[in-house]
Amino acid sequence: MPPIPESKPYRIGRSRTGLGLFATKPIKKGTKIIRYFGPLLDAHNEKHDAIENKYLFQINKRWTIDGSIRKNIARYINHSCKPNAESDVNVRKRKVTIRAIKKIEPGDEINYDYGTEYFKAFLKPIGCKCDACEKKRAKKAAEAKAERAADKAKSKTGKASSAKTKKAKGAVADKVKTKTKTKTKTKTKTNAKTKVAADKAKTKAANSKAGKTNAAGKSKAATKTKAVSKAKSKAKTVSKSASKVTARATASKAKAKSATKAATKAKQAKRPASKRTRKA
Ligand SMILES: [Zn+2]
Repeated sequence: MPPIPESKPYRIGRSRTGLGLFATKPIKKGTKIIRYFGPLLDAHNEKHDAIENKYLFQINKRWTIDGSIRKNIARYINHSCKPNAESDVNVRKRKVTIRAIKKIEPGDEINYDYGTEYFKAFLKPIGCKCDACEKKRAKKAAEAKAERAADKAKSKTGKASSAKTKKAKGAVADKVKTKTKTKTKTKTKTNAKTKVAADKAKTKAANSKAGKTNAAGKSKAATKTKAVSKAKSKAKTVSKSASKVTARATASKAKAKSATKAATKAKQAKRPASKRTRKA
């Protein structure tokens, strides 16, 4: 590794993609950090034009800096889609300087945007590994995971709630059946008793005490009728609770739906902005 004087605010260090340049001191926004330099290649020169390497920095159609030389420390600076520095190209002097575009803290990796052409040719095919792209990728992966979980939960909730509803409905049906049976029994009993009462009343009426007894029979019958209506209202309450269960199931379904909607919205908001071209 080429030596770097201690006075310089950077060092070469391990980065995600191999080596990179890292700040060792705070670097103010707008500060010129380092020059990108090397032999000038002339597009009009066939020999120059044949040179190919990763460190070519095109100044304009004619001139390109070959930055592959060892002394060019700036070649360690990696690309970022959301950089903290930029390449400042002086076309007339054919000079390139890397300058801070925001405050860079010690330990931060120094990055600049290599430009659309480089991105398309070298980074897009293998997938850009800059912080911004990695974060984007991680976010996307997390969202996809969340969406899958939401879908799973949705289908589970759907199944569970339908099962619950079925169970509840069954229970209600059973209860209603029981109640109906009870009702019928009560009715039958009432009828029988009423009949008995009526018969008794008849008999007693024959004994000219009809008025009183008849009244008694009637009131008994009335009591039984009340019992029947009580049973009816109980059945109603049960079916109400059943509809509550259904309502809950619907609510959880709606929740799952809104979660999916939120995920979709987040996805839409996260579309990458168009890339900047920094290379001259
Ligand atoms: Zn990137």
